[in-house]
Amino acid sequence: MDNDVDRDTGTDAATDPGGTHRAILGIDIGGSGIKGALVDVDAGELVTERHRIPTPKPATPEAVGAVVAEIVDHFDYQGPIGCTFPAVVQHGHTLTAANVDDSWIGAPAAEILSDATGLDVTLLNDADAAGVAEMAFGEGRGVHGTVMMLTFGTGIGSALFIDGVLVPNTELGHIEYDGREAEPWAADRARKEDDLSWKKWGKRVNAYLGYLEMLFHPELFILGGGSSKKFHKFRKKIKIDTKVVPAALKNEAGIVGAAWAVRDRPTGRSG
Ligand code: BGC
Repeated sequence: MDNDVDRDTGTDAATDPGGTHRAILGIDIGGSGIKGALVDVDAGELVTERHRIPTPKPATPEAVGAVVAEIVDHFDYQGPIGCTFPAVVQHGHTLTAANVDDSWIGAPAAEILSDATGLDVTLLNDADAAGVAEMAFGEGRGVHGTVMMLTFGTGIGSALFIDGVLVPNTELGHIEYDGREAEPWAADRARKEDDLSWKKWGKRVNAYLGYLEMLFHPELFILGGGSSKKFHKFRKKIKIDTKVVPAALKNEAGIVGAAWAVRDRPTGRSG
C-alpha cells in the first residue's frame, strides 16, 4: 500500500474512520454528462453518491475544466484525481476528438484539468478506464489471455488486455467493418437515431463482435456503456463462439477505473 496516496487524498477520515481504505476522486467525462464520486480503490466501490453535471456545450477545455473543478468543490476534495476522457490519451495529451469539441485535439488535457482544479490529474481513455475496473473488480477478474472490453454509448470504446495488462488506446470503434466505420453503425447512438429495436441493433453488435473475434480471438468480451444494463434485451442475438458478458460495474466502471489509475501513481502531474 502506498501511504503517500493515503495522506494526499485527505478524505479517508470522512469516509473511513478506521483509515484502512483509500478514497480517491474518480471523474468520468462523457459527451452528455461529467460524473464524479469518491472511490474506495481497494474495494473498487463508490463511497459517495455520484455527482453528475451535464457536459457543457460546446465542451471546450475551459468549460470542461470549470465543471471538473465544480465536482472537486462538491466533494470538498484535496488529493490526486483520476479522469477519463472519450479520446486517445497519451502522456496527458488528448490526441483525437471523435465526439467532443475539436479543440481537444493535441491539447495538454491533464495539465488543463490540473490547472482548473489545482490538483494532480491522471487522465486515461474512458473505455480503458472502464476495462481496468472490470479487470480489477468485475468480469475480467482472474481471466488470463486476451480480454476485450467494449463500451457502447455515443461512440464505441475499446480496451484490450493481455494477461491483465492493458494495451491502451486501441480505438476499435473506428475500424472499418463491411465497408463502413463500425462506430456510427453499431454504437448505442445508432440504435436510438435509427430507431432500431433491441433485436435489430443486437444483430449489428453481433456482426461487429464477430469481426473482432476473427481478428483477436479473445477469451472474453465484456460489454459496457449504458446499453450493457439492457443486455437481456439483445443477448439472444449474440451468437458468436466467444463468451460475451455485460460489465459487472455497469456505468460506474469509468469512475472506478479513473480512481484506480491514480492508485499507485507517485504524486506530481501525470498523464
Ligand atoms: C472515441 C474513443 C472513446 C469512445 C467511447 C470514440 O469515438 O474515439 O476514444 O473511447 O468513443 O467514448
